[in-house]
Amino acid sequence: MKTVIYWQKVYYSEMLSILRFHQNYIFVPNRKNNVQGPKSLLQTEEKYAIIGAGPSGISAAKALKEQGIPFDGFELGVDVGGLWNINNPNSIVYESAHLISSKKQTEFKDFPMPEHWPDYPSHREMYSYFQAYAEEFDLYPHYSFQTKVIKTERKGEQWEITVEQNGQRSSHLYKGLIIANGMLAQPNYPKFKGEFTGEIWHSSQYKNAAIFEGKRVLIIGAGNSGCDIAVDAAHRSPKVDVSVRRGYYFVPKYIMGKPSDTLGGKWRLPRPLQQWIGGKLLKWVVGDLQHFGFPAPDHKVYESRPVMNTLILQHIGQGDINIRGDIKQFEGQTVHFKDGQKEEYDILMLATGYKLDYPFIDKKELNWQERAPKLYLNMFHPQYDNLFVLGMVEAVGLGWEGRAEQARLVANFIAGLEQGCAEALDFKTKKAGPNPDMTAGYKYLKQDNMPFCVDTSTYRSILEKEAAALPQ
Ligand SMILES: Cc1cc2nc3c(=O)[nH]c(=O)nc-3n(C[C@H](O)[C@H](O)[C@H](O)COP(=O)(O)OP(=O)(O)OC[C@H]3O[C@@H](n4cnc5c(N)ncnc54)[C@H](O)[C@@H]3O)c2cc1C
Repeated sequence: MKTVIYWQKVYYSEMLSILRFHQNYIFVPNRKNNVQGPKSLLQTEEKYAIIGAGPSGISAAKALKEQGIPFDGFELGVDVGGLWNINNPNSIVYESAHLISSKKQTEFKDFPMPEHWPDYPSHREMYSYFQAYAEEFDLYPHYSFQTKVIKTERKGEQWEITVEQNGQRSSHLYKGLIIANGMLAQPNYPKFKGEFTGEIWHSSQYKNAAIFEGKRVLIIGAGNSGCDIAVDAAHRSPKVDVSVRRGYYFVPKYIMGKPSDTLGGKWRLPRPLQQWIGGKLLKWVVGDLQHFGFPAPDHKVYESRPVMNTLILQHIGQGDINIRGDIKQFEGQTVHFKDGQKEEYDILMLATGYKLDYPFIDKKELNWQERAPKLYLNMFHPQYDNLFVLGMVEAVGLGWEGRAEQARLVANFIAGLEQGCAEALDFKTKKAGPNPDMTAGYKYLKQDNMPFCVDTSTYRSILEKEAAALPQ
């Protein structure tokens, strides 16, 4: 009897997940004409403005809605999805892009991805997932698409938002501002000596491997995108080299048949032990990376974002891809390396990352210090109570739920302040002070996005605790 009930449950839950998939996820409406203005009858002065409809922006929209805080969202693309919508002018995903973290570790807790989806869904699946999320929580009516925020200026206690829609500019005063425009929009172009006369691309422009057909390629940088692109190129190009300045840790997407980020369960070992076990496990599973031509990493495991790609190692082993050292200078199509070697290429692909960029707001307003805004928990302005930045965080495996936690904390804080609750006033004092330690003692690598690099579980537990203390 017990077995029959069990299988009935399995059957019904499977049917439900299939139904949900057909109802929501295959549905890809064309939102090209969905250019709207702020529609609610409230004056904009009574509302918050959200910039961006990526995972962070739509998390904010849902959290504000649940708290009954009125808002308008502005998105320069034609739809939600952020960089996961390959047709968004700001999208940096390419045809072969998939999640780096596995779906169970990434999904919104209250909106699971369909059971029958792969462990590492593609950008197309992710785009349809965000569309389904926006439909499910009725977020579309709050957004104006194909609407670019050009400028935001503090006017007294309010924010004046200037937007451009169909070539027309208009300005509106808002009660507050939530910035969720993403961290990966402004390509980082390193400076090199000399001039390269072949084709130069940045990974942000890359869409598919057709550009490599028959061409000799040098990819600069071996982060996650650089390695994905190298593997794509290996199928089209007679020569693929990757220039690296430092060593990386490579983590296979699967260990013992399970997505590697699901291993280890919920146990939280002390940091040194975690690093020791992680280092040993990778040495055992992936081996010595110097064997593949990489320099030894100059940092411990978990002190920089690992590369979730072992396909590249296989291609190096097959001789399809070669690892090169740092670049000394360019001379025509010749690249001189610091180790004295030189080689000719047709294409340079700069997989050299991104710079933080908030072009629509004065840096001073964001309390910018050195390389990044200095914000409490990477989100809260120390003085202004109506300015927030979401998604400005480098945290391995933060996923959509981590972004939703950020959004809930912001919404709960706004609601708490509006209700004049004591916990919100406490939090207001806290956010004017120094940040708690969010690194768990990890010494994050200097050349990465250090000012906003945090230990994911430490960070998420702070967000959860702070949000729980405020009105739900
Ligand atoms: C190949 C790849 C794989 C990745 N895999 C993972 C993963 O597995 N797990 C993970 O957690 N993260 C991953 N990331 C990181 C990625 O940053 C996040 O997935 C996520 O997209 C961040 O969401 P966001 O909303 O903060 O920013 P975005 O997705 O960049 O969205 C920002 C939105 O703001 C809009 N916008 C920008 N400026 C303006 C303006 N002036 N006016 C109006 N709208 C504006 C943009 O059009 C965009 O829609 C990956 C990234 C890449 C490139």
